[in-house]
Amino acid sequence: MPIGKGLKHTADEAVALGLEALQVFVRNPRGRGARTFTEAETDYFKDTILTYNIDPVVVHIPYICNPAAAKDDIYEFAREVVGEDLERCSLIGADYLVLHPGSYTTSSREQGIDRMAGLLNDVLDNYTGKVTVCLETMAGQGTEIGRDFYELNTILQLINNRDRIGVCLDTCHVFAAGYDVSTKEGIARTLEEIDITFGQDAIKFIHSNDSQKELGSKRDRHAHIGDGFIGEEGFKRLLRHDFFGTLPFILETPFAEIDRDIVTLKSLRGG
Ligand SMILES: [Zn+2]
Repeated sequence: MPIGKGLKHTADEAVALGLEALQVFVRNPRGRGARTFTEAETDYFKDTILTYNIDPVVVHIPYICNPAAAKDDIYEFAREVVGEDLERCSLIGADYLVLHPGSYTTSSREQGIDRMAGLLNDVLDNYTGKVTVCLETMAGQGTEIGRDFYELNTILQLINNRDRIGVCLDTCHVFAAGYDVSTKEGIARTLEEIDITFGQDAIKFIHSNDSQKELGSKRDRHAHIGDGFIGEEGFKRLLRHDFFGTLPFILETPFAEIDRDIVTLKSLRGG
């Protein structure tokens, strides 16, 4: 959910939509600006999520951040944002900060991974708060890092403060990366790969988005639940799965029609 109209508005709307988990941007998702919160609005927000048992609350880093960037100014900006947003998570009582591992652009995949891990270690080495940073599984578009579980695990292994690092599994991204989470066999195989890489415990929540593009397309295009190649049957399997079904599902489909996806997910998970 956006927070442009203030945290009070966001909290009220989350309740009105019947949310059980929530993801917000604490700044403009496509820009640099960050607004300051008043104590009144953070208090109201924290009270509301507690009262309505909205758990977890996740903060997403702006898309323009590239923590694996080859260019120093872009890399430094990402470091600043990750550090600041981690503090802002505490202000609003968020549990997780999620970020895309970034793109290596003009350097190499290995250099991008090193930059990314270095940035996180810088931010987390002296961090004493309770927020966990989650790296998102990516579709593998262009020079994106985190294109499969092995690559994501390579980054995780480089992080010193392992208690404060986790994984967010995005269904659209993994499907585009070649993990067929739409079928029973595909879900089983995906889980096997999780077990031999970062492990199930590392996954803190799901980004539940359908995919406009085919399996293995390497293209990140979110679709409303049931409108893409994962389909309602795929989401039904995931929601009722022994492991995946126990995790929070967070929607990142176009916000104007998100109410429809909320109803779909709630009905697909069944009793
Ligand atoms: Zn996502």
